[in-house]
Amino acid sequence: MNPSAQDLIVLRPEGLFCPPGNFFIDPWRPVHRAVITHAHADHARRGHGAYLATAISEGVLRARLGNITLQGLAYGEVVHIDGVQVSLHPAGHVLGSAQVRVEHQGQVWVASGDYFTSGHTTDSNSTCAPFEPVPCHCFITESTFGLPIYRWRPQAEVMAQVNAWWQGNADTGRPSLLLGYSFGKAQRLLAGVDPSIGPMAVHGAVAPLNDAYRAAGVPLPPTQTLEELKTASALQRALVVAPPSVLGSAWARQLGDCSDAFASGWMQLRGARRRQGVDRGFVLSDHADWPGLQRAIAATGASRVIVTHGYEAVMVRWLQQQGLQAGSFQTEYGDEQALDAPVEAAGPTASVA
Ligand SMILES: [Zn+2]
Ligand SMILES: [Zn+2]
Repeated sequence: MNPSAQDLIVLRPEGLFCPPGNFFIDPWRPVHRAVITHAHADHARRGHGAYLATAISEGVLRARLGNITLQGLAYGEVVHIDGVQVSLHPAGHVLGSAQVRVEHQGQVWVASGDYFTSGHTTDSNSTCAPFEPVPCHCFITESTFGLPIYRWRPQAEVMAQVNAWWQGNADTGRPSLLLGYSFGKAQRLLAGVDPSIGPMAVHGAVAPLNDAYRAAGVPLPPTQTLEELKTASALQRALVVAPPSVLGSAWARQLGDCSDAFASGWMQLRGARRRQGVDRGFVLSDHADWPGLQRAIAATGASRVIVTHGYEAVMVRWLQQQGLQAGSFQTEYGDEQALDAPVEAAGPTASVA
């Protein structure tokens, strides 16, 4: 797809760039002005001159990036940058996550960042504002799970599987170690499990993010530290939520003979659970599945779609078959695998609240 002079968002070596507004969206190299969709480490990086993001994501962004120049917006609030109208709209991915809407001379483009919506109409991410389709001429979509094999089961069904696994372990006196990314997935798991089964603990990388969610008004059940559970001899019935990076660590060995499980969209892949070396895999993602991507794209009414990180080629082919003008941008956004280290590096911090 050849860029035209009127394109509102183009690809530059630094990242997605809005030429008339002279700003970048989720740039991967340092720039003077960055609009940030959400606080995951591959989308929100250090070193930009000025940041614009949702006010709700401010706590997590500051905890991760330190002392930055940041303007926080409410969802739907409009600002003008060099004559371009910019607003942020819920993406349903993690706390404060947003799609970026830009409007200039009658043209509207939307960059999705990461978003969650599934083929099941009633499913949305209950720990953040649900994905909201924004009408536009051109939609820039992620494609992390943009293959037909990715079809999420209803979340209630997945959480029932998690509860049954936890209950079974508790009944036999084994701790349950549940692995999920510390920003987003961990909170969704905590909000979704049945707290009557037993006590819950979280890893130190998860705790400050829980605080940020609670500070934003998202109810999460009370959790303890692993040390508190051990002191109270309450480990046998406990659910311990931690990032996947703890697998095989001295920290995880404190749980003794436990059952471990990994909650991720990747668990839908044959062999993924075995490769991670865990007892169970639960298919739970903060990204749209194949039907969710299709529904989201259709709901924007966009006649042109640009696909980023994931299965670009498959998505582009499918979109072209639907009669849409489609192309892709090669971005430097990763999958979620590498996202936990920066939080641990930042450590427990009071500024998250
Ligand atoms: Zn993300
Ligand atoms: Zn992403």
